[in-house]
Amino acid sequence: MKLGFNEATCMRSSTVEVDLTLCEENGYDYIELRLEMLQDYLTRHGLDELKEYFDTHHLKPYAINSIDDINFRTPEEWAQLVENFTFVCEVSEVIGNPYIVLVPTIDQELATTKLESEILEESVRNLKELAEIASAYGVKLAFEPIGDRYSICNSLRLAHEIINEVNREDVGLSVDCINLYMHDKCSDVGYIEKIPGEKIFLFHICDCEDLPLGTLNHSNRLMPGDGCIPIREIIDALRGTGFDTIASVELFREEYWSMPPAEVIEMAADKTRQFL
Ligand code: ZN
Repeated sequence: MKLGFNEATCMRSSTVEVDLTLCEENGYDYIELRLEMLQDYLTRHGLDELKEYFDTHHLKPYAINSIDDINFRTPEEWAQLVENFTFVCEVSEVIGNPYIVLVPTIDQELATTKLESEILEESVRNLKELAEIASAYGVKLAFEPIGDRYSICNSLRLAHEIINEVNREDVGLSVDCINLYMHDKCSDVGYIEKIPGEKIFLFHICDCEDLPLGTLNHSNRLMPGDGCIPIREIIDALRGTGFDTIASVELFREEYWSMPPAEVIEMAADKTRQFL
C-alpha cells in the first residue's frame, strides 16, 4: 500500500502549503486535501499553482474531504451542497484529484426515526445525482460510513448495500478504521472480504483509545499502532479483497493539533509505514 496523509491530522495547526512541503519531505505518496483548507489556500494562491505543484513533485492528490451530511437535506441545503460539490469537482479536474469523500448525515432525530429502507433509497438517489455531476469532471465518489451511533449509515454493511444499489463504476467505498471500530468494535472484520476490491477506493488508517462505545469519538483517534483497533486484521481483510492501493492516515486529535505539524507528519509516516 502507498502512504497517504489526510489533512485533518494537522488541520488546526497547518496549511495546505505546509502540508504539501512536509508530506513531500517525509516521502508520502498521496495527500487528501480538506475542503476548508483548500478554500483558505485559494485566498493566497491560484489553482494553477496547486496543479503545478503536483505536476512537479512525487506527492499526488488522492481525495478531497469531505462533502458531509448528504442525507435528508432541505431543498435549500441540498442546493448549497451541490454547489460545494460542483466546486470540488472543478478543482479535482484541474489538479488531477481522482476521488471525493462523501459522508452520511449524523443526526439523532433522523437516526432514530428513519427506516433503513428509507435511508438506503434516499442515499442511492443522492449518490446517483452527485455521481452524474462528477462524471462530467472525471471524478469518482468514495462513500464513507461513519460509525457514530447517530450516523444514519454507521455500518460498512449498509454502505456496501447502498453502493451496490447505486451500481456505478465511479461510486465506491472509503473504509476508515475508527468508523469500523465505533460501529461494533470490529467484531465483523471478515465482512470487508465480501466487498470486491474494485469497490473500495480509499482506506483511512488510524488507531484509538480503548474507551467504551458511546463515549469514544473521533477526537480519541491515535497514531496507527498506539491504540486498540485490530489494524493488521483490517489490512489483511482489505488485501483479501484485492485492495492494496493506499493507507491514508487520518486523525482528529487535539493533542496532535497542538504539536508542530513537522513533528506530527513525520511521526504519522513512521507509525503508518509499519502497516504498509
Ligand atoms: Zn475517514
